[in-house]
Amino acid sequence: MRIDILTIFPQFIEAGLDFSVVGRARRNGFVEITTVDLRDYTDDRHRSVDDTPYGGEHGMVMRIEPIARALHHIGASRENARIVLTSPLGKGFSQTVAQDLAGSEWLVLICGHYEGVDERVRQHLVTDEISIGDYVLTGGELPALVITDAIMRLLPGVLGNQVSASDESFTAGMLEYPQYTRPRIFNGWTVPEILLSGNHAAIARWRRYHQLVRTRMLRSDLFEELNLSEEDRKLLAEGEPLSPVSDKN
Ligand code: SAM
Repeated sequence: MRIDILTIFPQFIEAGLDFSVVGRARRNGFVEITTVDLRDYTDDRHRSVDDTPYGGEHGMVMRIEPIARALHHIGASRENARIVLTSPLGKGFSQTVAQDLAGSEWLVLICGHYEGVDERVRQHLVTDEISIGDYVLTGGELPALVITDAIMRLLPGVLGNQVSASDESFTAGMLEYPQYTRPRIFNGWTVPEILLSGNHAAIARWRRYHQLVRTRMLRSDLFEELNLSEEDRKLLAEGEPLSPVSDKN
């Protein structure tokens, strides 16, 4: 997959992409990410990417020309790439949107600034407009990094163990089950016995039960959308599965 990020702060993006899973995936060639400095596509000696708004409002607006020139230079168009404008007006970003974008071969992310971008960018140059939440940030770099991170971990091979991604929150419309690691007892707080039982079927039932209960408790909106199986209903009706060891006691 190829991702181009159009920004006036390339160092910000580069720093954000340098670490952990994302940095490794990039270095190992699972994804080709290029930061494109919009100031390289300006035509005045100040390298201005913004101008005052028509109609005389306060603030500045990002000009369309540097964005259009940058897209032209990299060869991206609405026909051959998903071109995403980061914007508070956009469709809400979610795991489903990340999965959809991860299926594209070429993704271009445009980072806005100031009061936003010239409306003609939305109208004529992009295919998608995405918001990462109902709040206003100073620029599109953090949204672009959020979107890139969420997409990259869905690409085959990036997490190393694909089970990790398929088990995670939202992937199957549910929240993740509780996770524990050593020590077995900390401060008197214990790990559920069943996880130590070695009984994989029992552990899977316990995890499924907790996914269902957590989702019902914390995200009733997601729970209502679930297509519960007979087995799920039975699990919920019976309550928390106990450890095979405890069952015997
Ligand atoms: N004046 C705009 C408005 O009221 O909708 C806000 C512009 S904001 C200060 C500047 C840029 O930050 C936007 O063009 C966009 O690229 C980015 N941005 C801010 N909040 C965002 C959000 N919640 N989701 C995605 N992008 C956002």
